[in-house]
Amino acid sequence: SETLLEVNGLAKHYPVRKGLIVAKQVGTVRAVDGVSFSLKRGETLALVGESGCGKSTTARLVLRLIEPSAGTIRFEGVDVTRISGAAQRAMRRRMQIVFQDPYASLNPRLTVAETIAEPMLVHGIGDAASRRKRVEELLSLVGLRSFHAQRYPHEFSGGQRQRIGIARALAVQPDLVVCDEPVSALDVSIQAQVVNLLKDLQRRFGLAYLFIAHDLAVVKHVADRVAVMYLGQIVEVAGKRDLFAAPRHPYTRALLAAIPHPDPQRRGQVKPLGGDLPSPLNPPSGCRFHTRCPFAQERCRKEAPALRQLAPGHEAACHFAETLPAVGLDFTGGLS
Ligand code: SF4
Ligand code: MG
Repeated sequence: SETLLEVNGLAKHYPVRKGLIVAKQVGTVRAVDGVSFSLKRGETLALVGESGCGKSTTARLVLRLIEPSAGTIRFEGVDVTRISGAAQRAMRRRMQIVFQDPYASLNPRLTVAETIAEPMLVHGIGDAASRRKRVEELLSLVGLRSFHAQRYPHEFSGGQRQRIGIARALAVQPDLVVCDEPVSALDVSIQAQVVNLLKDLQRRFGLAYLFIAHDLAVVKHVADRVAVMYLGQIVEVAGKRDLFAAPRHPYTRALLAAIPHPDPQRRGQVKPLGGDLPSPLNPPSGCRFHTRCPFAQERCRKEAPALRQLAPGHEAACHFAETLPAVGLDFTGGLS
């Protein structure tokens, strides 16, 4: 089906300066460093990695909240880094975000109705009466009641607040919703409800999701494809089933191993990842994962592996992806 979003060679570099009188550049933080991916209409691509891997920065670049250092972002073929004014506002309407923290992301002084209607006001959609009607519809779509419209965010639980955030994101009928860890601040018992709501809304409205997550457990239920990021780069991308059944990159394997396996007998067959995430300020030479990789060899310290296709739709950036030992552990349990 149709490509909605196409990102190519996206980068965000921050110069690091030192010195009070004459600031001298002492390094570069490579927060995002050459990221490419595409997203089809109605599809969910999960971007997964440890905090600091660049996944949130990638999301903010796609939403045009920050300027890229390099690369292109095409939305229905139009490079959104090169448009401004009315065209940019029209594009903005079509990409919305659901934030990670439902406690911090809602303005405490606005009622639920005002919160949900705000994007419609910003984009000049409808009159007061039609916006009121639309708020009612949206409340019902996300499983809230009409009387909730006049209440304030503090009167709601975390899960309910995230429903309000979702209603707000959908108010202007976007094509793409960036979900920035939308359930990681919620109780485990509430997470599945919110994930199911997102999936239901996706089916109804053909939404595409760029779904940011720091572990693979949540992604298992929501993603169609998964891109794994490490230190500003995508190291593996595959359809969900392929990624869970046959992970090719040692980092992906370590992330999978970190998910508690339902069968305790089978835990611990893949060692969880040791060591700290290196700083994206002057990242390791060669393969950026070599300082933590159990399979690293001399070549890995010198030569950066390119992301390359190993099977249709399955790419990984590892020199030795073909010759790594078998995983010996089934990660596909519970896959939908
Ligand atoms: Fe590990 Fe080398 Fe592969 Fe990098 S290229 S993931 S260090 S084996
Ligand atoms: Mg983040």
